[in-house]
Amino acid sequence: MDQPATPLHDIRARIAQAARIAGRTPDAVDLIAISKTHDAAAIEPLLAAGQRAFGENRVQEAQAKWPALRSAYPDVALHLVGQLQSNKADDAVALFDCIHSLDRPSLVTALGKAMAKAGRQVPCFVQVDIGDEPQKGGCPIPDVPALLTAARDAGIPVIGLMCVPPAGIEAAPFFALLAKIAADNGLDQLSMGMSEDFETAIMLGATHVRVGSALFGARG
Ligand SMILES: *Cc1c(COP(=O)(O)O)cnc(C)c1O
Repeated sequence: MDQPATPLHDIRARIAQAARIAGRTPDAVDLIAISKTHDAAAIEPLLAAGQRAFGENRVQEAQAKWPALRSAYPDVALHLVGQLQSNKADDAVALFDCIHSLDRPSLVTALGKAMAKAGRQVPCFVQVDIGDEPQKGGCPIPDVPALLTAARDAGIPVIGLMCVPPAGIEAAPFFALLAKIAADNGLDQLSMGMSEDFETAIMLGATHVRVGSALFGARG
């Protein structure tokens, strides 16, 4: 088959290669296409090429974009990768299939109630403030065990940990630290790695990579 190279083919090939080097199978890594700021016209080619996991960082933007796309592609899985305000918990639970930004007790309370009310258990990653940058959100490292306990008590299915390492310095130590914290807490899924560093993240155990600009081009 003679297929033109597209960013999606290229990223998938690089994911498979990194997984192979790490002694993992390519399907051990989920590619989440981060489509924030991009409109339906930019997203549709990826859907047509078979990509089904997408990520957004704002509830309102996702509510505006995805219902129409989803009626055409009902098997899309939508991931929330941005900071979530507690007053948007109901909307987030209704729209998203996975939440990567559970990071504080007040959000545990809000999401627990929202999931109970909706009768819908949405898998969550606990976001860890891996580089001690509170402005990015994320749970302080020492508080992770207590937050995990609170989430379980609230009936929230926590499947792993997520991080966004500091910009401008080598990400590998932060990925390795997240993997260690996850292992210490009995969690086996890791949401880490973006356009610049997803191969490194895969070498260090990422199960979900969040790739935006390498798929869609720079955001405006
Ligand atoms: C925007 C974003 C990404 C994707 O970043 P790129 O560098 O464009 O790949 C991944 N994760 C989060 C949390 C984001 O906000």
